[in-house]
Amino acid sequence: MLRFCLLGVVLLFLVPSPVSAGFYPNSSAIPPDLRRNATENVWNSFMNFTGCHAGMKVNGLYKLKQYFQHFGYIRQTLPKNFTDDFDDILKNAVETYQRNFHLNITGELDELTLKHVVMPRCGVPDIVNGTSTMHNGRRRTYEVSFSGKGPRFHAVKRYSFFPGEPRWPERNRDLTYAFDPRNSLTEEVKSVFSRAFVRWAEVIPVTFTRVEVFSISDIRIGFYSGDHGDGEPFDGVMGTLAHAFSPPNGHFHLDGDENWIVSGDVGGDRLLSVTAAVDLESVAVHEIGHLLGLGHSSVQDSIMYPTITTGRRKVDLTSDDVEGVQYLYGPNPNFNGSRSTPPPSTQQRDTGDSGAAGGIDGSRPVLTSLLMSTVGLFLLYL
Ligand SMILES: [Zn+2]
Ligand SMILES: [Zn+2]
Repeated sequence: MLRFCLLGVVLLFLVPSPVSAGFYPNSSAIPPDLRRNATENVWNSFMNFTGCHAGMKVNGLYKLKQYFQHFGYIRQTLPKNFTDDFDDILKNAVETYQRNFHLNITGELDELTLKHVVMPRCGVPDIVNGTSTMHNGRRRTYEVSFSGKGPRFHAVKRYSFFPGEPRWPERNRDLTYAFDPRNSLTEEVKSVFSRAFVRWAEVIPVTFTRVEVFSISDIRIGFYSGDHGDGEPFDGVMGTLAHAFSPPNGHFHLDGDENWIVSGDVGGDRLLSVTAAVDLESVAVHEIGHLLGLGHSSVQDSIMYPTITTGRRKVDLTSDDVEGVQYLYGPNPNFNGSRSTPPPSTQQRDTGDSGAAGGIDGSRPVLTSLLMSTVGLFLLYL
């Protein structure tokens, strides 16, 4: 009996707990008591490390090391009980981070570097298995020099993949997606995801069809709160917002504690920029990129760039995103290289044919796997 009870307790913690996330047409619709100032960012305390450099010892520096380890700048195999010493491990992490984000490579915690560190960003590691996905040397790069004067501009393709370049198998390019029924999402919310899927389906020969049977769908979308059983707990308002797994896993989780803007109406919304509310479609488009096999890109305007700037809606694929995903799947023969109009907000309601789910490999997420894709976008008022 006791064993049974213990098992029950364990299961209680393992089963994802769906929550009712807050969905709003715009930031003004968020009830005042639910508005949180974006400066409540959990990482903001890192700004206190401004000016720190190698050789120093500063209280709390171990937390910054944990941050860098989470994003792959410190080897994941190292134990997490770091010291507060600014040692070579941290210096190397800072230098690599600065290189990835096109900052001056000082190896020190200068203000600009820390402003990037605390900025809204995706939780997906930028470095996987010791290889920086943001600066993968074998990707095509080219350099453009203008008139021989001034700085040389580097036009670089920086899309990346997960180790092994996993992608959905050729026999399964008609993917299904479903929503956790326990979230009871409205059609308006579901349509945001449909629009996001269309943006990718336009450029590759892959289709996404909404189905109702969650358990056998290729892609499973759900909003959860805190620890939800996959080793990547959500952290409440701001911080990590969502994560998705590389193919062919299909799990796509979003933080139910966020305030999500579902109308796409974020343009020039100053209130949005100072409150912790996030454009849902922007996050969805980014996450679908991970679901398809894309890692992060160091091209700042790309969908797959790890950060999103204040109050910005970012839903249009750039050439970097398109070339990356077409490397994996080839081009959509019907795609002419540009879209004439954004997808309408009220259509693209896919039919809910519950029997259409394609085969999935059924593998459980490996909790410690670096293939885990995590996105954490939150809006930061600078
Ligand atoms: Zn999760
Ligand atoms: Zn990401």
